[in-house]
Amino acid sequence: MQPWLPAPLQTVIGLLLFGGLPLRDRWQLLDAIERSWEGDPALPQNLDQRTAEEWLAERKQSERARADVWTPLARFLIGDDVTTISAAALVSVFTRCLLTARRHARLAVPTDTLHDLLLSPLAARLARTGATIRFNTATVLLQIENDRVTGVRLRDGTTLTADYYIMALPHRQLTAILPERVLTHYSYFQQLTQLSDSPALTVHLRIDTALQAPRVVLFARRTFHWLVSRPGPRRSGTVISVVATGKPELFERTDQDLIALALDELAYAYPGSEAIKLLDSQVVREPRAFLTMSPGTRVLRPLPQSPFRNLLIGGDWTDTGLPATLESAIISGTRCAEMILAKKE
Ligand SMILES: Cc1cc2nc3c(=O)[nH]c(=O)nc-3n(C[C@H](O)[C@H](O)[C@H](O)COP(=O)(O)OP(=O)(O)OC[C@H]3O[C@@H](n4cnc5c(N)ncnc54)[C@H](O)[C@@H]3O)c2cc1C
Repeated sequence: MQPWLPAPLQTVIGLLLFGGLPLRDRWQLLDAIERSWEGDPALPQNLDQRTAEEWLAERKQSERARADVWTPLARFLIGDDVTTISAAALVSVFTRCLLTARRHARLAVPTDTLHDLLLSPLAARLARTGATIRFNTATVLLQIENDRVTGVRLRDGTTLTADYYIMALPHRQLTAILPERVLTHYSYFQQLTQLSDSPALTVHLRIDTALQAPRVVLFARRTFHWLVSRPGPRRSGTVISVVATGKPELFERTDQDLIALALDELAYAYPGSEAIKLLDSQVVREPRAFLTMSPGTRVLRPLPQSPFRNLLIGGDWTDTGLPATLESAIISGTRCAEMILAKKE
């Protein structure tokens, strides 16, 4: 338990008490944090051009601190390890989560599904305003004439028209529906083809035992990278999601293998849980789960305003300054809506 302290003191004290690292490493880590916080020395301009690994080594972070602390944190908060992500991504997320307001370091583990928590209430609210939502309706072409969008063509051949268009699709799907001449002519769109995504693999386990939950456990040097546990439906048993990111090689393993590996991680995180009864399991493979925050990515993420006045681009992968998360998607959507309102004034 940490004493109640404002940020960044709670991070500093938490690290000082963290028994997973030798004292010398803890001290170096604190020194690196304090210097980043105070800007001494000032952060180099080229942080987005270098990997976090290079920068941490330069900041005298030992191999052990990089593997046992920075990599698990980077995987959990940004999605990839420190050899993949840019130093800029690590510094901005770490500062925001752990060195600013105390509430930014809080973790929320929802007991509801994303559908019940966000999508259903949102759909109900939109319905009350008279909006129409069309599910399972794919756009196949963005029609553009001269300097404006004139419609979106749907798979069934119909065309929808509007005053303003917000395209909030994954970047690959967005570039796929652009006319070829638009994609080749405008650097705004062309640079999107240089973005890449990282894979995620999740094994959901439902067991009959009530374990201590909710709980988040980050792993270092193991097959999976973290697990999140929460009470099961109607508070019976426990549901555990065991996640690995940036490891496409795991996708080839059979579901049976992956479930066995996930159960190993569960036993590691909850010693003594080997005898639990598995009620249900599900393996979810997402080859393109989220934007890879590698060096050079920051400048490729687009601002909402496209070269066409009535077309705005949204999505968690756009230039929000955050990794590709729900929060980033919400910020992006809000910015697009605000820009349209400002245009209408
Ligand atoms: C396994 C996994 C776990 C995650 N866990 C978390 C988490 O714990 N916390 C968190 O904050 N974030 C998490 N995320 C990230 C979060 O899901 C995303 O940040 C968020 O969904 C992004 O929202 P979005 O609206 O930008 O994009 P999306 O949710 O990808 O929505 C884009 C939509 O566009 C639709 N679409 C695609 N092509 C077309 C087309 N041609 N025509 C019409 N529609 C189209 C898609 O079907 C999709 O519904 C996780 C992601 C994954 C994959």
